[in-house]
Amino acid sequence: MHVVVNVAVSADGKLSTRARQQVRISGPDDAERVDRLRADCDAVLVGIGTVLADDPSLTVKDSDRRLARRDHGETTNPARVVVDSMARTPLDARVVDDEARTYVLVGDGAPNDRLASLEEAGAEVVAAGHERVDLSDAFDVLEEHGIDRLLVEGGGEVVYSAFEAGLVDDLTAFVGPLIVGGRDAPSLADGEGFVDVADFVELELQDVERIDEGVLLRWRVEQE
Ligand code: NAP
Repeated sequence: MHVVVNVAVSADGKLSTRARQQVRISGPDDAERVDRLRADCDAVLVGIGTVLADDPSLTVKDSDRRLARRDHGETTNPARVVVDSMARTPLDARVVDDEARTYVLVGDGAPNDRLASLEEAGAEVVAAGHERVDLSDAFDVLEEHGIDRLLVEGGGEVVYSAFEAGLVDDLTAFVGPLIVGGRDAPSLADGEGFVDVADFVELELQDVERIDEGVLLRWRVEQE
């Protein structure tokens, strides 16, 4: 499976405010780029923190791109994947509407009634891990479901876990022209953080591009 992380960060590396309120960081050209990226992948993944904060639909916005996918024998939208240990995804969240297939990755502590409700709402539940979702195991299951190109769109907790587990191949980050600040504001990679220098994930810069009022950085993860 090829895993791309794509996020938009402020100039000080934040994904959103300390109140976890969505911030418009990208401009229209970057939004188009992200739509193309979505159209080119098999599934788009976010954490439950992002679902609860932003209620994203994670669908392809451009109708020509959706039609092109269908012409290539693909579903009109990529699948959506939510990392959600306790199956907290609201049943009226946009990620569980009928615009695309939805996988909810859960831990083994997720309440059965929540799992049943999500399945009834049309989502496919994938159990992997205990207190938290084990992303490596879950990605293996997704691959068995034909997901070869996975786009991870955040937030900071899930992005960190994906890096920590060594699952990321490429990182693209749009850096926008604003300072959000806040020690508790989500950043590109949160989680516990690496302590040992030897554990840092090393990146190889592939490209730098000026887009809108910011800059797009493309990195490849150096494999150990
Ligand atoms: P998140 O990464 O979306 O979700 C984190 C949650 O996922 C955890 O709290 C945990 O909740 C669950 N989880 C389950 N297994 C996990 C694992 N192995 N590793 C990590 N998380 C796991 O939440 P976030 O970091 O709070 O980010 C949300 C914020 O990011 C929002 O404010 C949103 O606006 C912002 N955002 C910005 C962008 C951007 O590009 N600018 C993109 C996306 C999101 P459970 O234990 O309950 O399962």
